[in-house]
Amino acid sequence: MPGNFYQETTTAPSSAFDVSLRPPAFSEFIGQEKVKERLLLMLEAARQRNDVLDHILLSGPPGLGKTTLANLIARTAGTQLHTTSGPQIEKPGDLAGVLTNIQKGDVLFIDEIHRLHPAIEEYLYPAMEDFRLDIIIDSGPSARSVRINLPRFTLVGATTRAGRLTAPLRSRFGLANRLDYYSHDELARIIERSAGLLEVDVLREGALGIATRARGTPRVANALLRWVRDFAQVRGSGTIDAATADAALAMIEIDAQGLDEMDKRLLEVLIHKFGGGPVGLNSLAVAAGEDAATVEEVHEPFLIMQGYLTRTPRGRVALPTAYAKIGATPPQAKPGDPQQDLF
Ligand code: ADP
Repeated sequence: MPGNFYQETTTAPSSAFDVSLRPPAFSEFIGQEKVKERLLLMLEAARQRNDVLDHILLSGPPGLGKTTLANLIARTAGTQLHTTSGPQIEKPGDLAGVLTNIQKGDVLFIDEIHRLHPAIEEYLYPAMEDFRLDIIIDSGPSARSVRINLPRFTLVGATTRAGRLTAPLRSRFGLANRLDYYSHDELARIIERSAGLLEVDVLREGALGIATRARGTPRVANALLRWVRDFAQVRGSGTIDAATADAALAMIEIDAQGLDEMDKRLLEVLIHKFGGGPVGLNSLAVAAGEDAATVEEVHEPFLIMQGYLTRTPRGRVALPTAYAKIGATPPQAKPGDPQQDLF
């Protein structure tokens, strides 16, 4: 199943493997320096004032460390972490159930917060702002509203699509942080740290060989490391050097830039079926046989970041590097062509 490798590793919920490699302290959390610095400052300020931390929004593609940061925030504040996700909260009672279990200063982590039902959001606003929950009990003539006062808590919301958050919800977060893709050097350091925990020897070149194909994503880096470790154990000396990493990753058909089969298929479809675009997200996803949300959250941000495609008001457009990647010839730009300035 090499074709699905990234898909499974980038969108899968945290596995036991993920959890065991999760940094237990900010000092072991590599990269995202600006975000870390802001969070540590907020934590220190709250500690000095003996106050509860303000609500925090974390956004960015899957696998970049949002859940890990929520864990670290709670740990550093010395409070309990309660975890749920947007789709899990179906009715107001679900939200009440979560919130009434909370103690003062605890962190409530809501993953995929952009998927909260709009009606639930309405209940969340007073909970975030005034630490109260007004819920309606019963229906019809006996319906009545009951107010529950909540302890002060910190909401940490995570989203892969900050743009989908409603303005009222977004404005209730004290601090919004966007996580960026990691550099090759940062990923190599993450791989070296994980290799240490897995008790496998990795040379710098081996770590870099994995890092360059990890799509800027620690979760992918760790998943690739797990595969390369198996390969090194069975086919190699056990140590991960550059040649072992190359051979292991070639076996699962991951190319030198880390593109997987779906990334390449999207570029092929965009160029061969839609003449390089512009084409809308849904048409592109349907033609490639992939779910539009996965294209938008997992594949597209990486392809944009790597300069293979761009978003225009009229749709997605392939850039010259995309043509080179799939061995096609880019069209000759004509004067007045809307794509002209892209070439
Ligand atoms: P997200 O919630 O954004 O999908 P996670 O927090 O679950 O991502 O991170 C995925 C895995 O990647 C974690 O289990 C952790 O092992 C690893 N990871 C993420 N960020 C870092 C980091 N900065 N340093 C080290 N490991 C990291």
